[in-house]
Amino acid sequence: MKITIEERVRKSLLRFGRKNKICRILVMPALVLSMFVFHTIRYFRGNFKRFAMVAMTFCLFVVYSSFSFPLFIAGDGRAVEWSKAELDSDVELAPESALRPEDMELLSDEDVLSDYDFVEGETVHGMDGVIKYEAEDILEALEANGSAGSTVTEETARNESGEIIFDKNDWRLVLTNKQHSIPEDYTFTLGTIHGSQMCDERIVDDLKAMLQAAKDEGMNLIVQSPYRTPERQEIVFGRKIARYMNRGMSYMEAYQLSSRVVNIPGSSEHEIGLALDITCDNYEDLTEGFGDTMEGKWLAQNGCKYGFILRYPKGKEDVTGIDYEPWHFRYVGVDAATVITERGITLEEFWEEL
Ligand SMILES: [Zn+2]
Repeated sequence: MKITIEERVRKSLLRFGRKNKICRILVMPALVLSMFVFHTIRYFRGNFKRFAMVAMTFCLFVVYSSFSFPLFIAGDGRAVEWSKAELDSDVELAPESALRPEDMELLSDEDVLSDYDFVEGETVHGMDGVIKYEAEDILEALEANGSAGSTVTEETARNESGEIIFDKNDWRLVLTNKQHSIPEDYTFTLGTIHGSQMCDERIVDDLKAMLQAAKDEGMNLIVQSPYRTPERQEIVFGRKIARYMNRGMSYMEAYQLSSRVVNIPGSSEHEIGLALDITCDNYEDLTEGFGDTMEGKWLAQNGCKYGFILRYPKGKEDVTGIDYEPWHFRYVGVDAATVITERGITLEEFWEEL
């Protein structure tokens, strides 16, 4: 009978134990170990095909997941996948990007719009650019066109003891943010501010009064981006995402960062003509610094007298979901604006209490 290697090992271990009495204690663990090793070998030999398949699958998985497609920057600045890129001289490998802080800088609407469609020699940008008008020009135009805007100031309802009753269904209080998109049945009529600038016609008179009051105090405000069509809102949002992706961000990173500074299409107050971006002739940029200017402070404090609130205040980013925007003013009517401004709350918080 043929003696297997396993038996041979076992026998020599036992022989060793008999001869060396001092080492006898080691023989038992050595026998167990040898049994374990031989069993394992037998097991793997019996299931060789199965294990080979598992090993192969694992190898393929490792190879595929560690192989990523590098991005190239094409001549026109767009990031393209290498497979789509023409490998010629104006295509270069995108830098391996750990995102630098300056790339994370928030882009304003102007950043992404102003360099497009600019009409040479005109003070007004083209259709997709940012259209700005100084208060003086707006007031002049509104004066000339006496029919602009509704002349009916809607009173907010009051109860028997004279307290104001706010109603969530009041058009002035419509809440749009990342959680609340514009109601499907929401309707409004556009009125002209000046040139191609439009907003809800019901707020034109109050806007005019506010611009006039600021002018009387020696300020020259600038109105930009009042009403935006949904298409335009898409353009602003899309361009921001593209710009961030060109800086090496993933789509999700770019989307998240974009939605911090511009409302996702379908939820912007600019789309319902109730929001205006206002700056002044000394500080035209849509940047945080506007909040420190005399005009920025005046608007934040006095806008409520004309029905406007600073919609995205500093320190309320968690509530509004939007970064501090000292230039973005929203019409809510004088009564609500007064309550919101005096209490230092946001429209979201005001809504909670209704
Ligand atoms: Zn705005």
